[in-house]
Amino acid sequence: MDRYAVIGHPIEHSKSPIIHTAFARQTRQDLSYQALLAPLDGFPDTVRKFRAGGGRGVNVTVPFKLEACALATRLTTRAQAAGAVNTLTFNGDIIVGDNTDGAGLVRDLILNLSCPLAGRRVLLLGAGGAARGVVLPLLQVKPTVLTIANRTVSRAHELRAAFASHAGRSAFTAGGFEDLEGWGFDVVINATSASLENEVPPLPECIFAPGAFAYDMMYGAGDTPFLAVARALGVTRLADGLGMLVEQAAESFALWRGVRPNSASVLSRLRRKLAVPA
Ligand code: NDP
Repeated sequence: MDRYAVIGHPIEHSKSPIIHTAFARQTRQDLSYQALLAPLDGFPDTVRKFRAGGGRGVNVTVPFKLEACALATRLTTRAQAAGAVNTLTFNGDIIVGDNTDGAGLVRDLILNLSCPLAGRRVLLLGAGGAARGVVLPLLQVKPTVLTIANRTVSRAHELRAAFASHAGRSAFTAGGFEDLEGWGFDVVINATSASLENEVPPLPECIFAPGAFAYDMMYGAGDTPFLAVARALGVTRLADGLGMLVEQAAESFALWRGVRPNSASVLSRLRRKLAVPA
């Protein structure tokens, strides 16, 4: 049986084993998938032992995505652009590093939520690891505008500069939250971790254009603080990041196994589980 795992610290909360086990059952792939806790100073060693034991690949989560990038002997274009890796594939002596987070977000928005991005004005809030991972896939679907806004304004500018050569015909801008005054967007994606602290970035009300879609990468039972604010401002098309989580997993699974699972059924099962308090 082929072995896979997700490595992080902490890791008990991870839904990846449930998702990948469901994908394997659905596609009749003979594999096992476990959660592995790595010590904070022991990520490379944990990977080495897992490989030595016959592991075929791992997903990588907080706080090891940068270390996974350094450990890979070959990087995909999107992993190189993101500077972070969430999927490692072991191929003999080669360790391929990929980043499926951005593809997961874009698939969730376009396919699951019927929210097109091409020709739309897209606002990305945040300039941390999650934001960095989605900029290239967002530019690749050709929005008319992609604006990055962040609390630490210099980080927003740095992120824009890193991807400026990929902007094509999109107007690609960056700034602080106060610079958004007077601007409206069709899709607003919250990639800050503010919701984790029960906070919402200080945003001008105008950012939600009529019919706008509000998306929070964080997920949970009920509205996140960001989605609650958007709803209070009259936004009716909203989603949290559970679909992104399932879609990035589906992308990893397809890379490893050469078969794309049906993510919709797994997503709706997870959604039902999330609605029931533990
Ligand atoms: P990072 O720590 O790398 O970045 C945090 C970002 O949030 C920074 O831009 C930071 O701004 C900003 N921020 C933090 N607190 C506040 C606040 N109170 N007000 C405004 N801005 C704030 O985190 P990640 O990028 O890794 O994660 C961001 C979010 O994305 C998390 O909620 C995470 O759970 C989610 N995520 C979801 C995934 C999914 O599959 N659904 C996948 C990956 C991430 P500054 O630069 O000023 O510090």
